[in-house]
Amino acid sequence: MRCGFCGFEFEEEEGIQGCRNCPMAAGCKMVKCPRCNYENPPEPALVKKLKKLFGKRK
Ligand SMILES: [Zn+2]
Repeated sequence: MRCGFCGFEFEEEEGIQGCRNCPMAAGCKMVKCPRCNYENPPEPALVKKLKKLFGKRK
């Protein structure tokens, strides 16, 4: 996935699952960018599928 703030690309698993103690819900799914700590929403499964189909672009 790509960070919406700094544009850094990283695997969702590499991101920081920062919201375990989120008061809104027990563990919202936000993924923090390892570079700038911006909270990104996780990519929808459909987007992941499309990316796999077309391969990774850099
Ligand atoms: Zn970032």
